[in-house]
Formats: sequence, structure tokens, C-alpha cells
Amino acid sequence: MVGGQIALTYQVDNYPGFPDGITGPDLANLMRNQAEKFGADFIEAEANAVDFSARPLKVYADGGEHLGEAVIIAMGSLNRKLGLEAEERLMGRGVFVCATCDAVLYEGKRVVVIGGGDSAVQEALDLARFAREVVIVHRRRELSACMCLKNRADENNRIRFIWNTAVEDILGDKRVEGVRLKNLDTDEEQVLDCDGVLIAIGWIPNTSLFQGQLSLDDGGYIISKTGTDTSVEGVFAAGDILDKRYRQAVTACGSGCKAALDVERYIDKLRSGA
Ligand code: NAP
Repeated sequence: MVGGQIALTYQVDNYPGFPDGITGPDLANLMRNQAEKFGADFIEAEANAVDFSARPLKVYADGGEHLGEAVIIAMGSLNRKLGLEAEERLMGRGVFVCATCDAVLYEGKRVVVIGGGDSAVQEALDLARFAREVVIVHRRRELSACMCLKNRADENNRIRFIWNTAVEDILGDKRVEGVRLKNLDTDEEQVLDCDGVLIAIGWIPNTSLFQGQLSLDDGGYIISKTGTDTSVEGVFAAGDILDKRYRQAVTACGSGCKAALDVERYIDKLRSGA
């Protein structure tokens, strides 16, 4: 499946050109079709290692070796975890990270969503199409999500909020049965019964492959001086793997476009020997 995070989003309302919204998979497929029409080849394989120490640049993927004069890295980010023991133990047994993938399993059930940004609200909206009740538990007093998502959540009578509250533990032996919550004002604890817990507390850049090969900052993001270049000549990056600030589908596409233009200029320069 192409599209990364966007392909896991049921409805995308803020991508230009689609005033009535578009599903994430449809948007991703349209982009793929357009890229193929203009000559892009797609190889469906997982990149396992890279060697940027010599020319040509090398990417190893599922046993294959791919050589390039230039590489664009657009590997996005992974879901951040809470760090609770129960989170790992119950992952796939009520703990999950993607409403588009799993919402149907929670038809008529109560699900807790943890987080307060765009992801948490987007996931809650996707879940509310199936779940009886979606409870967003957020450690602050207000959401940081964009106004269009906030409004949709406020208007949805299956979604409610618990503010200023941390999830101290996820309860259940073989499956999720509830969460233990702590009010951060009063330290008061309560147990909320639920059938599922969706964790939407942000992302970690997917850069483990580049440790020791590219300069990364303390958060693991690729460091770039121009917005697309990296510490290795000929290696460029685009999207959430270096963007901590905007991280929208439209900004990631813009970033990809900049990287493609920079690669074109870089290769022209290589060929002209300048
Ligand atoms: P985010 O904006 O970084 O928000 C993360 C949320 O999780 C914050 O509310 C944060 O609370 C909370 N959080 C972080 N660590 C936590 C912890 N250990 N325990 C409890 N809560 C925790 O991440 P995001 O919502 O995934 O969004 C990432 C980017 O993707 C954003 O730029 C967003 O605009 C974009 N995005 C856009 C859309 C859309 O436009 N439709 C959809 C999804 C994502 P604090 O504020 O207290 O840290």
C-alpha cells in the first residue's frame, strides 16, 4: 500500500483541490498513478540498510541492492509509545494505533483515545463511525488539533473528552478491559472501563537506518541546512522525517517536490562536471 500515514486516514479534508474531502487511500493512489504516468518505477520492498559512504549510493532492500547517483529519503515517522508495560503486552489485543485499520473491530464498543493533537482527533472521528463511545483523554485542558477537526469532534455526539488527565495504566490480562486515569490537578485516580485504547501521542522519525550515516538531531530527525539536503552529498530528505513543525500532507508533498528539484539540479551539475 502506498501513501504512508495518509493511506491510513479515512477522510482527508485539508488537502487542496478536494473541497468535499477525499479518502486517504484514494489520495495516495491518485498520487501513485500520477507518478507512474510521468515515469516513476515502484519497487515494493523494505529498505534494510544503506551505504552512503561511497559512490554510487547504495540502498539494500529485501535482498536487492539498488544503486543511485542521488537518493531521496521520505520514510516519515513511527507512532510514539507511552512506555507502559501493558501497552506492549496488549498491543493488538485492544491496544492499537490506527483507527482506519481496526475501527471495525470496535463496533458498538467504548474506546479511549489518548492524545490531544490532530492525530488523536482524526482517529477519534474515524472510530466514532463504529464505536458506541469514544473518550479522548488528554493531559491538557484543550486540544492542539486544528479548528476543522475540533469542530467535527465537538459536533459528534459519540465523542467526549476527559481533560487534564494522564493514563497511568492500561488494564486487562488477555485483552484490554479498562484504563487507570489520574487527574493532574487533584491526583485523584479512577478506572474507566473500555474495550480498546488507541494511542495517538505523536511520532518518532523513522531514521534508525541512518544512524552513523547521516547527521541526526537529538530527536532523531535528519538535519538539513537547505530544507532538503543532508550531511551526505547526493542524499536528500523530504517530509516528516525532517519536519517537526508542519507535518501536513500538503507540506510533505511540497517538501518532496523541493527534494526532486534539488536532485535534478544536483544530477545536472554532476553530469556537466561543474
Ligand atoms: P502532536 O501534534 O505532536 O500531538 C501529540 C499529542 O499527544 C499532544 O496532545 C501531546 O500533549 C500528547 N502527548 C505526547 N506525549 C504524550 C504522553 N507521553 N502522554 C500523553 N499525551 C502525550 O502529534 P500528532 O497529533 O500525531 O500530529 C503530528 C503532526 O501530524 C501534526 O503536525 C499534525 O498537524 C499532523 N496531522 C495532521 C492531520 C490532519 O491535518 N488531518 C492528521 C493527523 C496528523 P502535549 O501537548 O501535552 O505534549
